[in-house]
Amino acid sequence: LFDLSGKVAIVTGGAQGIGKGIALRLAEAGASIVVSDINLESAQATVAEMKKTHFKAVAVKSDTSKVADAERTVQEAIEAFGDLDILVNNAGIYPFASTESMTEGIWDKTIDINLKGIMFFTQAAARAMIAKGHGGKIVNIASVDGFHPTGNLLSYDASKGGVVMLTKALAKDLAGKGINVNAIAPGAIVTPGASGGLSGMSKEQIDAVTKAFLATIPMGRQGTPDDIGRVALFLASEAADYMTGSVVVADGGYLVG
Ligand code: NAD
Repeated sequence: LFDLSGKVAIVTGGAQGIGKGIALRLAEAGASIVVSDINLESAQATVAEMKKTHFKAVAVKSDTSKVADAERTVQEAIEAFGDLDILVNNAGIYPFASTESMTEGIWDKTIDINLKGIMFFTQAAARAMIAKGHGGKIVNIASVDGFHPTGNLLSYDASKGGVVMLTKALAKDLAGKGINVNAIAPGAIVTPGASGGLSGMSKEQIDAVTKAFLATIPMGRQGTPDDIGRVALFLASEAADYMTGSVVVADGGYLVG
């Protein structure tokens, strides 16, 4: 049911964190993986690691905020592996900004990477899938912030609310083409990007923030990239053939409180 042998997947922002966790799970299930990331060196390091385990993977430098990069990344996937079956729209940034500190630059960058990127990577992938005469699976990485705002993350929260609705709109639009579009809304996941928010704090401060934070998660622990990788594997597999437009929450119970 979860066998992805012969399938080709692109994972945006696949070099580290949640994207890497997803890339590893899809590769383990047999898919050939395009690790697409704005940081080529980091993507190449992930691919080198994957090849040691005999996974099939290539690194492609792409910026999800650039429409031209979407077309090129899809073409490179087809050149490398001959087809495209799965797209995971994972790349995202989460800059802190309040009403007072928001700038046009922060706003545009967040929306362009987190939301516009999903639109145009999906457009490019859907065109390729349709041209190849088959459907496919699109998995978008939203966030619990698409439902429940975190303080000081205004552009991020707006972008993730947009990802939730864009997932549903794309699902409706592409259902007739055999392309399933679903999303995952992760809660707090331990990744290099998430840890970056704690840089500059003392150990005591980090311990205090972490304790207060864990108190908001009924399961009492933060998630791992693999916690999300396993959900992505489910949505990318035939187990999810009758699902489209769903947003699967994976947050240790945070949203139920
Ligand atoms: P991360 O910062 O650890 O990794 C993100 C990766 O995306 C990096 O490799 C980075 O180089 C790449 N990237 C950044 N901008 C890019 C761009 N313009 N084009 C292509 N690649 C780009 O982040 P993470 O914590 O693993 O988050 C991944 C996704 O999961 C994001 O969409 C984020 O919003 C979402 N998410 C994370 C959490 C969490 O707690 N970590 C929770 C909910 C949702």
